[in-house]
Parts: sequence; C-alpha cells; structure tokens
Amino acid sequence: MLHARGVTHGCHLHSQHPTEQVGQVLRRFDLYRNIQPFTRCLTCNGCLEDVSKAEILHRLEPKTRLYYDAFRRCVECGQIYWKGIHFTGREEQVRKLRGSGE
Ligand SMILES: [Zn+2]
Repeated sequence: MLHARGVTHGCHLHSQHPTEQVGQVLRRFDLYRNIQPFTRCLTCNGCLEDVSKAEILHRLEPKTRLYYDAFRRCVECGQIYWKGIHFTGREEQVRKLRGSGE
C-alpha cells in the first residue's frame, strides 16, 4: 500500500492499540500542533457545527435533555454530539496524546 501512486507519506504501525497507533503517526509526521479534537463526526468525518438545544430538542433522550445544554451537529449526517460520559474519555485520550508529544 505504501507504494501506491499518490501516497506521499506512510509508515508501518507497530502497535495493535489504536491510541498508540495515533501517537506513532503524530510523532512520525510531527502533527501535534495540528490536532483539532471534537471537530469531526465519528460516523462520517463531516464537520461539526454548534447547534441550539431548541433546534434538536425533539431528538434528545429525556435525561440528555435534562442534563446537557451545549450540542454540536454533523453538517453531513446530522449526528448530534454533547459533552457526555464518552466525551470525558476522549478528552483524557487527547490529553495523553498531547502529553506524549512534549
Ligand atoms: Zn456525520
């Protein structure tokens, strides 16, 4: 695959663990300053935009409706994101990745 036409950069990933693989790619290509977490959809990679709670209220589960006020929506597929429990785990991952680049 690394010899395919149009591929300008590549490296073999040694780890089987996705987070370590991301760290290896960030180090190999010096991409730490380009990290922009929580700006892309996990489903389709579309850009996320801020959306008002009122606009998507009908799509929220009752407890989400109750406990969260800030939301982002994918401009491509409409997936909705908020700073729930999964977000906290991702924040920790990003913090570790940034820390390993220093
Ligand atoms: Zn999407």
